[in-house]
Order: sequence, then structure tokens, then C-alpha cells
Amino acid sequence: MDRMHELVEKLNEYAYQYYTLDNPTVSDVEYDRLYDELLALEKQTGVVLDNSPTKRVGDVVLKKFQTVKHLGRLYSLDKCQTKEAMIAWLDKLIAANRNKMPLCSLEYKFDGLTINLLYENGKLVRAATRGNGIEGEDVTEQVKTIRCVPLSIEYKDTVEVQGEGIMLLSELKKYNEREGVTPIKNARNGVAGAIRNLDPKVTAEKKLEVICYNVNYIEGKEFKTGEEMISFLKEQKFKTSPFYRLIDNKDDIIKGLDDILSVRPNLDFLIDGAVIKINDTALRDSYGFTEKFPKWAIAFKFPAEEVTTTLRDVLWQVSRTGKLNPIAVLDPVDLAGVTVSRATLSNISEIKRKDIKINSRVFIRRSNDVIPEITGIAEHTENSIDVIPPSVCPACGSPVEVQGVFIKCTNKECAPAIISQMSHFVSREAMDIEGLSEKTLELLYEEGKIQSYADIYALKEEDLEGLDSFKEKKISNVIKAIDDSRQTTLDKVLFAIGIPNIGKKAAKQLAYRFKTLDAARKATKEDLLALDDFGEIMADGYIAFWQNEKNNEKVDRLLALGVQIEEKQEVEGVLTGKVVVLTGSLPTLKRSQAKELIEQNGGQCADSISKAVNLVVAGEDAGSKLQKAQKLGIEIIDEATLFSIINK
Ligand code: NAD
Repeated sequence: MDRMHELVEKLNEYAYQYYTLDNPTVSDVEYDRLYDELLALEKQTGVVLDNSPTKRVGDVVLKKFQTVKHLGRLYSLDKCQTKEAMIAWLDKLIAANRNKMPLCSLEYKFDGLTINLLYENGKLVRAATRGNGIEGEDVTEQVKTIRCVPLSIEYKDTVEVQGEGIMLLSELKKYNEREGVTPIKNARNGVAGAIRNLDPKVTAEKKLEVICYNVNYIEGKEFKTGEEMISFLKEQKFKTSPFYRLIDNKDDIIKGLDDILSVRPNLDFLIDGAVIKINDTALRDSYGFTEKFPKWAIAFKFPAEEVTTTLRDVLWQVSRTGKLNPIAVLDPVDLAGVTVSRATLSNISEIKRKDIKINSRVFIRRSNDVIPEITGIAEHTENSIDVIPPSVCPACGSPVEVQGVFIKCTNKECAPAIISQMSHFVSREAMDIEGLSEKTLELLYEEGKIQSYADIYALKEEDLEGLDSFKEKKISNVIKAIDDSRQTTLDKVLFAIGIPNIGKKAAKQLAYRFKTLDAARKATKEDLLALDDFGEIMADGYIAFWQNEKNNEKVDRLLALGVQIEEKQEVEGVLTGKVVVLTGSLPTLKRSQAKELIEQNGGQCADSISKAVNLVVAGEDAGSKLQKAQKLGIEIIDEATLFSIINK
């Protein structure tokens, strides 16, 4: 009982911070773990304390907003975390349905803030947060600033539409890059802070969206299925989810979950899981509700991509451009099945902006890269201390200089920078020279056999003789690998030579656009800004790189030492040799983006359907091309499947 009191108190405090102050102090994983512990104790003892969070749907209703009563009650969702638990839930459904799996929808579980929209006589008269499910906060003025929420609809009877307020990740990034703003911790917090703000201007500038998935109350109409409900929402011009599948067997549910997991990293919004709902409304009614959630739906929660832990120290590592990069040393913590003890911190100004201190608890999030990043501060402790950047280079002891938000070693010959540059140069995705480890490069550098990456092409067998573990066979293998790498492509070279901020994807884009090294060297800022994802910083860094004679000399030396760049980009990828046609509008990608993605993965895009076409990617409102493709028996896929093919 003591533990139960303790848990209730803790959880209520966390929920207050999360729901009322929009300022969570623990990760959802930690909250859910304590919540589940409480749930288990309640089951075991049969006692549920009066103020237990397991009795409540959601948040507290804020005082400063007017409280309003929803016409239809808003529920939370039951959840499970493993496929086994999901199957067990489905098995119960099947058993209760004369051993037949009922048709179910599979949808994204958006990670935002529930919004309930009330329309009367076709006009939006009220928007409210979920609150405790019965009453919420009136946020009409705030929600009216959201462009995709219709202010009027064709349907004239009273109707309440439920949706999720979300902030696009691209908008979050843009917002956080703005001068002088307090960075938003994550997109969920961005929405909550924007909507539960008394000033609608603040809501408007966050450029939110509301994705609608449910009719919560309606007069003058009944829906036979969930699918009908979604069609109604579309007809009334609400924004609905780009992903909606109807499924009648367990295998396809599992496949659907896998598909969602594989597209998740490419989505421009947060989802924290998938929702499975029975389609038939009469069947839904027969299952009914508990105090908290419908019994005819379940959320499958994905492994958390964000957890909290303690920052123990900050190390400064010299990068290949001579920048001192802060690396966070963390108390090891499990993040989506991987133990994490290091994270990136971008730069000192980010550290200050985010108020990150050593010995504080921080949020870490798994991004697309392998190494996770610290997204913000959860809580300071009494031992928290400021992060102090070094005044001399930790590798060579030279003074450092501040360049904008970065700290750089002033020693142009700072060994770790040169060595890590060479190590990047030989890496698989760059020039792909096997056998030259960072350690070997360091030895060759220390012995004066190579001074820069270009010198690698001047290496001879005798230069490698006598190196640790270099026997005859290994030496000839390395020389052969160097030789083989001389035939290369433009994107590899542009990636390998270490242009600031030019990663694999950007290098591919540059190669695709400029075709030759000469043209790529002469690119103007205007040319660069016209490329997708190229901003001012990238464009300026790129131009400055080529204005530096030393860089040109090194690249010329590469060519002089026999490196040959194929002019035509033959991209090797999962779509190599495939002719692809795009038709209809895709849920997340623009036509030009889809084309680029296909080409970057080796495919070739065509405009019309013929027998030469191997694959059709069809979106909404696809017309005659789709029909023709069906007639010819060409494989037809949707955007989600395209993503999963590419990610595989
Ligand atoms: P939930 O967010 O897990 O799921 C229910 C909600 O999902 C619905 O209300 C709806 O808004 C949303 N949703 C998204 N897509 C949907 C779809 N397609 N169909 C139906 N609904 C959809 O549950 P909850 O009750 O809103 O919140 C509880 C969660 O909040 C906990 O699991 C915990 O992770 C988090 N929490 C965290 C803290 C903290 O301090 N970190 C504190 C309190 C709660």
C-alpha cells in the first residue's frame, strides 16, 4: 500500500507537469513503467486509490481557459507493447466473434494533442482539448488559426469531429532555427504549448495541423463502419491520415505494423504507434467501453525513441574540419533496445540555448543517425554545473577560436582532424578503400608518408612494409583496394573530400544536378539553394570550400594521381534497372521528391505506362494510368510500400 501511495503521488506530479504545464520531467517510458507497476499492484490488491491516475482519462483542465463540456465523451486507448500482446488481444476478439476475425482498420497513432471540433449549422463553433474526457478547455480561437481545419463544412447538423493536433517536424526544425526563440523540446510539446496558449498568434506561428480520425458525436446520420466515417470526414474536407488500411487477418496486421515501423523514420510528423480498431460500428457497440477506453480498439505502442538519463560529462572531440564537437557522456540507458551512453550535442550555443548542464537529467532521442542526440533538459539537480568549453584544443594544445556557434582548433595541421578526415575519405560510402584503418592512417601520417587524403593515391608497397600486422598479402590487398577505388563516381568524391555539411545524400544531389566535377566546383549559391534541403549554411560552406585553394589543390592532386570520375551517375540501389511511373497524389512526398528518391535508389522514372514499366507508385485520385497499369498486370504499390522497399 505504501508503494501504491508513493506511485500515485509521483504519477500525479508527473502528469501535472506533462499535461498542465506542458513541461514533462520524465520520459514517457519512465512514466509508463511506473503506471504499469501501479496497475499491477491495483490488480493484485484489488484496491484502487481515489486519486489513482488509472481512473482518469487524461489531463487536468486549466483554470485560465474556459471549461466546456464535450457532446460525446472522449476516451483514451488501451495499449500494448509487443506483437504477442497484440495477437493475444486479437485472439480474444476472434473468440468473441464466433472465431472469425472482424474487419479492422490499421492507422497511425499520432503523437500530438487531441482536439475536439464542434460544428453547428455547418460552422465551426468550438474547438476544445480532451481534458478529462468529459470536459476540456475551449481553444476555439487558437484552433481557428490552423489552416487545415475547415471553418465551415457542408454538413448542417450538429457534429463533433476528433483529431490530433500535430506539428510537422520540418516546421519544428525551422522554428528552432529561428534567432532568439526558446527551442521547443519536441513536436508533441510544440503542439501542446501552441494550442494551450492564451495568445492565438503564438498558435498561428507554429503552423500546426489537425489530422481527423473520428466522428465523436453526430446528429442526423449514422455510420455503419469506421471506414464510412473516414469517407465522411474526407467529403467534409477534413485532413485525414495518409495511412489507413482495412485488414481481416492477423498476418496482415503484423505486416502492416512492420510497414508502419519502416516508414516511421521518413515521416514528417511524430507517431508513437499504430491503432487497430474494429470497423463495424454495431460490433463496436457490442464491445462497449471501460471507464477509460473503448474495448474495440487498441494502440500498439512503438519502442520509445526518447528517454531520460543523466548527463555526466562533456568531451570535446576534434572533427575532420577541425571543429571541437561536444560529445555527451551519459549514464547508460536503454533506448529502443540499444544501450546508449554517448550522444551528440551539436555546439556550445545549442548547449546554452537548451540550458544543458552536467549532472542534470536530459532527454535523449534516437534520430535517423546512429548516434542519439540530446533534445532538451528534463530537470536540473543540486549538483548541476555549467558546461565550460575548452580554451585550448584537447588534442594538440593549440589555442581555439570561436567561429559563429563553433569552436575550432587554430592549428590547421591538428593531427586528429587530418586523420579523421582521411579515415572518412577511405570509408565505405566514400572512396571505399578497405584495409586502411584509422590506426594505420595515423601511423602513416606520423611517419610522414601521407600528409593528406590525396597522398593515399601515391602510396607504394614499400610505404606499407614494416607497419604493424602488414604482411605481404595484406600489403598487396591494400594497394589493390587503392587502385580499384580510382574508378569512382562524382557523388563519392564530393562526399569523401569532407566539404562541411555535405553528407551522402547532399553529395548525391550535387552529383545528380551537376554531373561533372568541374560544374560542381563552379556551382553558384543560387544553384545550390535550388536543391532540396540546401539552406544558406550549407550553400555558403560549400562555396567557401572551393574558394580555398588548398582544397582545390588536393582535389587536383587526386585527379593527377589517376582518380577517374565517371561522368554519368549510375546509381546502384534496390530499384536499379526498374522503370517506375508515379500517378496520383502521394500522402507525404511531392512528385519531384518521389522522383528524386526513386532515382537516388537506382530507378528510372517514366511519364507514361508501357510494357517497359516495372512498377507503379499510386497515390490518391490516380486515374487512367492506374487502370492501364492494372490491365497490363504491372506491379502497383503505395507510398508506404515504396518506403519499405527502399528502407530494406
Ligand atoms: P495515449 O496518448 O497513449 O493514447 C490515446 C490518444 O491517442 C487519443 O486520445 C488520441 O489523442 C490519440 N490518437 C492518435 N492517433 C489516433 C488514432 N488514429 N485513433 C485514435 N486515437 C488516436 O494515451 P493518453 O491517455 O492520451 O496519454 C497517456 C500517455 O501520456 C502515457 O502513455 C504516457 O506515455 C504519456 N504521459 C507522460 C507523462 C510524462 O511525464 N512523461 C505524464 C503523463 C502521461
